[in-house]
Amino acid sequence: MARFHGKDYSNNPNYRFVANETCTKCDGSGQFLHHGACFRCDGTGAHSYYTPTDEWAAVLAERRAKRNARKRAKRDAAYAAALAANPWLTGLALFLNATTADDWAQRLGWAVFERVTNGKTVSNNQAAALLKCALRSRAWHERRVAEAKAARPVVVGKGIVITGEIVSIKWRDSDWGGDYKITVKDDRNFRVWGTAPRAILDAVAVGTIEAALKGARVEFTANVTASDDDETFGFFKRPRKASVTLTAEGK
Ligand SMILES: [Zn+2]
Repeated sequence: MARFHGKDYSNNPNYRFVANETCTKCDGSGQFLHHGACFRCDGTGAHSYYTPTDEWAAVLAERRAKRNARKRAKRDAAYAAALAANPWLTGLALFLNATTADDWAQRLGWAVFERVTNGKTVSNNQAAALLKCALRSRAWHERRVAEAKAARPVVVGKGIVITGEIVSIKWRDSDWGGDYKITVKDDRNFRVWGTAPRAILDAVAVGTIEAALKGARVEFTANVTASDDDETFGFFKRPRKASVTLTAEGK
């Protein structure tokens, strides 16, 4: 008998011998480029092995399907039992599906869900951490919804007086070196974005600009245009007559 690969089924009538097929690992060359002789066919390029007859292959496939179905049923039963024993899991899943507010809460929440449905337990610390982020996440979400509801169309035109809070400040590089861009939430409930007025930046020490100005109250006059896709958002240009009131933390 020729050399062959795998188990020896020479005494088992359910198997037939396949001789000298082209080795698929090395495409029949017997060699791997840079790696020497093919390990599967020992450099012969030919692959011989025992394989189940068609009838036996069908029997094996049926057995495998039954085994997988049993495993699946067992897993489904364990999952259902875990859900029944922990009614809060359903609430957790509903909450996680309903909110996209906080990625971190999402990940932690699903990790807990998976752990418990896999028959494991969650420590008090893990549960407390989850609750904390769920509450924070909900508060964040509610605040966003309330803000969106309260938002009003931006007041546009030349010489508009903007009075409100700097909700974000970021450095942005440009071909001319870059500058600070601020988003201001005006007291009339719209937001405007543009280059931070020089006078505002000069009011704080270099190096503390972002920390000091975020949350600060500002007032300036500028030309304002509305965003094309959000009537509650606008862009300001040529800010002038600017003044700033720093928050307690910013000083
Ligand atoms: Zn080979």
